[in-house]
Amino acid sequence: MAAWRSPANRQLLERMLAALEQRHPSIPESEIVAAESLSLNWPNLKTCLAESLGCDDETRCQSMMRELAATDTPFMLFSYQFGTLRNQLLKLALEDGAIADAQQVMALFEEMEENFAAVYLEIFLNRLGTRNHLRLSHIRALNDKNLLSYFESHLEWMAALIEATRARDPLQMPELNPNHCQFGRWLNDEGARLIRDNSHIAEIRELHEAMHHIIAEIDELIVQPRASGPVYAILKKAETYSLELGNEISLLNSIVIMSVYSKDTLTGFLSRRFLDRVLANQMEIAKATESAFSVIMFDIDHFKDLNDRYGHQTGDLALEHLAGIVRDTLRQSDLIFRYGGEEFLLVCPSTRQAQARLLAEKLRLRIEACPVPHDPPLPLSASFGVSEVAPASYEIVDTRLVHEVIAACDGKLYAAKRGGRNRVV
Ligand code: GH3
Ligand code: MG
Ligand code: MG
Repeated sequence: MAAWRSPANRQLLERMLAALEQRHPSIPESEIVAAESLSLNWPNLKTCLAESLGCDDETRCQSMMRELAATDTPFMLFSYQFGTLRNQLLKLALEDGAIADAQQVMALFEEMEENFAAVYLEIFLNRLGTRNHLRLSHIRALNDKNLLSYFESHLEWMAALIEATRARDPLQMPELNPNHCQFGRWLNDEGARLIRDNSHIAEIRELHEAMHHIIAEIDELIVQPRASGPVYAILKKAETYSLELGNEISLLNSIVIMSVYSKDTLTGFLSRRFLDRVLANQMEIAKATESAFSVIMFDIDHFKDLNDRYGHQTGDLALEHLAGIVRDTLRQSDLIFRYGGEEFLLVCPSTRQAQARLLAEKLRLRIEACPVPHDPPLPLSASFGVSEVAPASYEIVDTRLVHEVIAACDGKLYAAKRGGRNRVV
């Protein structure tokens, strides 16, 4: 690296690191927390730098950067630790009144940091490209795309951004204006009608605009030779926006499914024949957005007794009553299936196990608290099984996997029944 080409610079750094080791061998007070909890710490960095200088081998520091990038250690963390080391050296030089040394250390650290940032950025771009491609392939795999095609187009947008950044070529940048891309046009028109809730649409618009604004930020930076660190930070932000937007689009997609797929006439819920397809799609979406979802199955307790005692018509009334409670309790984007006669299955996108259990518990309590209007009022209860589907737990989505997910949840529901009914497992 250029900073090391000059023996005078190398000697200066070596000398100062040795002096630091001698005079302040312990970790600076402010670094102790960081050093305890993170893989990259100040003493490691100091040693790596000293060793690299000692044998004039910059690749040692570069492999440290590669490892940091490969383990997703944020560059900011490195930058912070590196800055601390620089400040320690500056303090030392100033204690000795060596102003020229201090100035030189400042300049060298700035140059070294940019060099390290460039190594880090290169690895990060490759990894981001691979991750983005995986997301794209999961979204592309869906045969029933609906709104998800917008997520696909934004993943393609990210791919173009990665290429433009890699080539440092502003001419390769993807669409800048959020109102000109396909999703932006949809959001301003049909989307506004579908979402209805103004504050929600404002949130999505803001997220979408923030994602497009990245172009302007990257555009400004890639022409500057020393900007790898900030470029990394902005791309990381772009990745986060992309995932959040994907998540929003998939939730909107569920709303579309709930509104256009044909329904079971008694309860107004989706009929079982769509279940495999919707669940498989949800598994692909979870993979592409890196967010877990949950499945809840529930079944009315002793429903046969109610039918036997009050007749089938009253049984139907009870089912309609229950459907109303379920609809009032869930989000617009939860997918509700009538799985069997008095058995239901909910797919809750972007919902972890703990949240799903809370939701099931809320449903259970509401069902228990609202008897079917009848003379006399008829109390109902239901048993629930809850399971989470984590995207890290599978690679390829197929029918067998979908059936395993259903069977696992069914097993929990069965355990709830066996455990005494009117409970969540
Ligand atoms: P458990 O607590 O174990 O679930 O007991 P259960 O009596 O609810 O279970 P079982 O599966 O034995 O009985 C379900 C009953 O639900 C049988 C059937 O008569 C009734 N059922 C299924 N679909 C409908 C429907 O559409 N309308 C009505 N009225 N009853 C239905
Ligand atoms: Mg039952
Ligand atoms: Mg049943």
